[in-house]
Amino acid sequence: MEQARSYKEQWETLRRANRYQIFFFMGFLPFVFLFVCLFAPHLGAQKASFISGCGYIVCGLVFGNRAAIRAKQFACPRCGKRFFGTGNRHNDFTRKCMNCGLKKYAHE
Ligand SMILES: [Zn+2]
Repeated sequence: MEQARSYKEQWETLRRANRYQIFFFMGFLPFVFLFVCLFAPHLGAQKASFISGCGYIVCGLVFGNRAAIRAKQFACPRCGKRFFGTGNRHNDFTRKCMNCGLKKYAHE
């Protein structure tokens, strides 16, 4: 028997997806810098930066887009419909559900 998840747990899913997006967006330069510092003596600076940059972009496209899609299709805890969209309208910055009006991160 499946038990309904609390609002808090469902909001945590959205927060996690948003954190992943920020992580992949902000992590590019630190990752490339660290990778080049570690592997430049062995591979050369150009090759190390190319490999790390391309690798990060591919991983960012896969995992960052996955998180973005998860956030975009987030289901409202109250009504179960898409929180950020209704029909063909979509708003990533809305502060309340576009279907039932539940405020973002509300407990009830
Ligand atoms: Zn709703």
